[in-house]
Amino acid sequence: MEPIIRVEHLTHTYSAGTPFQRSAVENVSIDVMPGEFLGIIGHTGSGKSTLIQHLNGLLRPTQGRVLLDGKDIWAEPKKIRQVRFQVGLVFQYPEHQLFENDVISDVCFGPMNQGLSREEAEKEAKQALTQVGVKESNFKKSPFELSGGQKQRISLARALAIRPSVLILDDTTSAVDMETEKQIQQSLRELDFPCTKIVIAQRISTTKTADKIIVLQNGYIEEMGTHEELMEKKGYYYELVKLQTGVDEL
Ligand code: ADP
Ligand code: MG
Repeated sequence: MEPIIRVEHLTHTYSAGTPFQRSAVENVSIDVMPGEFLGIIGHTGSGKSTLIQHLNGLLRPTQGRVLLDGKDIWAEPKKIRQVRFQVGLVFQYPEHQLFENDVISDVCFGPMNQGLSREEAEKEAKQALTQVGVKESNFKKSPFELSGGQKQRISLARALAIRPSVLILDDTTSAVDMETEKQIQQSLRELDFPCTKIVIAQRISTTKTADKIIVLQNGYIEEMGTHEELMEKKGYYYELVKLQTGVDEL
């Protein structure tokens, strides 16, 4: 089987050629197989967000390539929009993604860009919103009136409504309440279309069921393995998470 996503020797340097030059991702290679659930963890500043913003073409590699279904996503820069329909990205801060006047229009945005009529898009949007636990009484509200947890659900619905083949969640659960986190987890388990998942997290519980987990450190892949394998190694994974969250009971 071919990987759905292949990252080849990816390096990303911010502010190249200036005194602020900094490699946020350094020679990272990853294969993600269709249907796989990949976890990515690491301290703040380790390069997680920089790495995954390459997967739907929000950032362009300084060096290396990103292949989607075996094709370099930058082979035809004009088709990068297509990549964004296939790879759905949910940001840590939902405000960065919500634009429209009301919730339902916001979630309709993607499907309409894919060519659906407003009516068809609304059907998709309602289904996605229901799936993530947003009540119908909130559909006509402004996304900005709602709580942080509700906004995060709307961001997730926005990504689900385009039925992406790859869904990436960038640290979406660290800033939300437990109930929202549980709902997000459950929605991910119950998707009614085939989807590869990449979840960035700080809480150990969030990536526990991943097929494999990558630990980033200063832009490098420090470790890769299952939850059990990482736990066996000096318990450093535990330490990493404990340090970051200050939570002991994990
Ligand atoms: P993480 O998501 O793991 O917290 P980031 O990918 O956000 O890590 O950041 C990795 C490094 O790149 C950090 O040192 C951060 O300060 C730097 N960085 C992130 N975004 C930018 C940017 N737009 N311009 C310059 N440096 C950045
Ligand atoms: Mg980040």
